[in-house]
Amino acid sequence: MAGVTRPAGAFVSRFAPSPTGPLHLGHAYSAILAHDMARAAGGLFLLRMEDTDTERSKYAYEAQIMEDLQWLGLTWDGPVQRQSDHLARYTARLAPLAARGLLYPCSCTRSDIRAALSAPQEGTVHPHYPGTCRGRSMASRQPGDALRLDLAAALAQLPPDLGFTETGAAHAGPHIINPDDAINRIGDVVLSRKGEDIVAYFLASALDDADHGVTHVIRGEDLFDFTPVQVILQHLLGLPTPTYHHHRLIRDDDGKRLAKRDDARALSKYRAEGTTPQDIRRMVGL
Ligand code: GLU
Repeated sequence: MAGVTRPAGAFVSRFAPSPTGPLHLGHAYSAILAHDMARAAGGLFLLRMEDTDTERSKYAYEAQIMEDLQWLGLTWDGPVQRQSDHLARYTARLAPLAARGLLYPCSCTRSDIRAALSAPQEGTVHPHYPGTCRGRSMASRQPGDALRLDLAAALAQLPPDLGFTETGAAHAGPHIINPDDAINRIGDVVLSRKGEDIVAYFLASALDDADHGVTHVIRGEDLFDFTPVQVILQHLLGLPTPTYHHHRLIRDDDGKRLAKRDDARALSKYRAEGTTPQDIRRMVGL
């Protein structure tokens, strides 16, 4: 990545928020963990804005996120990366997948596609795509169509021992991807957005982790179930697979996962009330 000197063998982590709302306690936990693990290992901590959802991403949130992280005392290495600056680079990676017969155009409803494009959120997992358009040729793509990955076809082209290493407490250990399980639980994800040449979260994020030399992906447990599709994409595109660390989620008093709309837990609100960064660390159990 431009602007960063990476010592050989360095531990590289990142915090990759979508600037679609203010950071809350759950984000603080994720960022502090990724930062502290990198610093403890003498490695690098990168900051990346996952703003491919151009409708919901706002520059004001991005500025607020950086201010909150600085207030927490976190420092990142190199310039902040912004996915919207690299859309053509992501789109270029679709061609080899199409050439291998792994993509198909899809004209299914906008609400399905929208749900699939946003970073997945616990409790709002997008409905499993029923495969209505599977079998359509790339030549039949209309300007309004999305592109989906034919997951079963992709798995058939990959070695059977495909997997990743997880270091988070809940799922620690090696994980071999079970093809039936991946097909049933994840299905044919959208890789390119309906009507626009914008690559979806799964692909953009996996590409960036590889291109930025990320060795440890540290993020919330809500993304654990989607890790296989990113590992599959890494293998299809000849990219390395990082080590994954999915951490526990910070929940509200009712046990619900915090979401962006939970403004009550926004870091800026705590700051305004005089909470200190040390208090925040204590509140998230660090
Ligand atoms: N951009 C995602 C989010 O804000 C995080 C993705 C990741 O860490 O891989 O939920």
